Amino acid sequence: MTIFTDVKCSPGDLTRVELEACYARTLVNPFSINMTRGLPSSEQLALATDFLFLPGRASFISRNGVDWRNYGCLQGLPEVRALFSETLLGLPTDQVVIAENSSLALMYEALGYAFRYGVPCQNEPWSQVATPKFLCPVPGYDRHFAICDAYQIEMVPVPMLDTGPDMDIVERLVLADPSIKGMWCVPKYNNPCGSTYSPDTVRRLASLPTAASDFVLFWDNAYAVHHLTDDEVSNQPIAQLCEAAGYANRVFIFASTSKIVLPSAGLAFFGASPANIEWFLRHRKSRTIGPDKTNQLRHLLFFGDRQGVVAHMRKHRVLLEPKFKRLEDELSAGFSGVESVTWTRPKGGYFVSLNLPEGCATRVVELALVAGLALTPAGATYPGGIDPYDSNIRLAPSYLDIETLGAAAQILVLCVLLTLAEKNISQL
Ligand code: PMP
Repeated sequence: MTIFTDVKCSPGDLTRVELEACYARTLVNPFSINMTRGLPSSEQLALATDFLFLPGRASFISRNGVDWRNYGCLQGLPEVRALFSETLLGLPTDQVVIAENSSLALMYEALGYAFRYGVPCQNEPWSQVATPKFLCPVPGYDRHFAICDAYQIEMVPVPMLDTGPDMDIVERLVLADPSIKGMWCVPKYNNPCGSTYSPDTVRRLASLPTAASDFVLFWDNAYAVHHLTDDEVSNQPIAQLCEAAGYANRVFIFASTSKIVLPSAGLAFFGASPANIEWFLRHRKSRTIGPDKTNQLRHLLFFGDRQGVVAHMRKHRVLLEPKFKRLEDELSAGFSGVESVTWTRPKGGYFVSLNLPEGCATRVVELALVAGLALTPAGATYPGGIDPYDSNIRLAPSYLDIETLGAAAQILVLCVLLTLAEKNISQL
């Protein structure tokens, strides 16, 4: 299907009247396309069908003598920690805890301990601070902002550059304000830009002088192995750099297998310094006798070894890469000659970030919705859902089949061009 039927020129050259005519045609039979979130597609979920038949009748006694069927093993089966600790967290096995299925839940939990008890070697619970604050690189991930909202943490936006968060601003803020207790970081193939922090950014984050002695980086490595090209970015050694800088306890690393096997049956990981791990397990012990080791064993049997994880991620790439290519092709064709619209070209992860002239994002999302395309709401990539420039939209190509994605991208292009025309914004 094509939105720009009978259009002989590039869509960017259409007049407002012509764009309105194209838009009116889409309203005759509105689409019903949902592109709001980065869900794996059903083909991706099907890659894990065999996973659902495990562990079957497997007989397995863990290296530490734990019978996986029973209570216990709070830190997680050592064999399963060994399978994922280096690959997902860049840490040795004993510096990793396996929890339940969601890393977001673990972030929420770690914050809860910091609020109630304070972080290791510090006595002041964060709940005692009048206005605890977190730095939030923007555009960023709405569910991180939701966690801050839940704890009434004030969010301080920091602009994202191609190299990661603007470190000059970060350094200035954390040095001046002891109530800045933490910072959200999605260091690799981040949500929504798809970019990766540069080695210099990571080094500066590890060695930041901060006014708060209990400042923590919430290092969400959600896309550790989610490559889309042969230029596979390796894990940044954040824990090692923090330790070398004298801040061994500065970082909490999170990851999960949600987008490796199944979002509803993954494993979530917490990785940190030995003191942080002891702290986390000490508090976690009051919460559970042990996590779901049946699911841990299922992961071990399904993947076998680290190579098994790599091979499985290649299958995801085969399904995802053509979708990112299709989106890229549609955007480059649709916005050819339109210099005021830019977007990211990620080498991994699940998202593309679209940047429009100031004041356009809400209108584009509105127009698209009327035409039957639900996009991530404008503002979602900013704390409080408010993008001060109203210019950013997160695009999530993973879930749709390629043809539907092509149609979605064309509707998007049309809605953007129409918005620029309505607002008399020059395309250059
Ligand atoms: N962090 C980021 C940056 C994400 O994009 C996502 C998934 N969209 C998550 C965390 C969710 O992780 P989990 O499924 O482990 O809770």
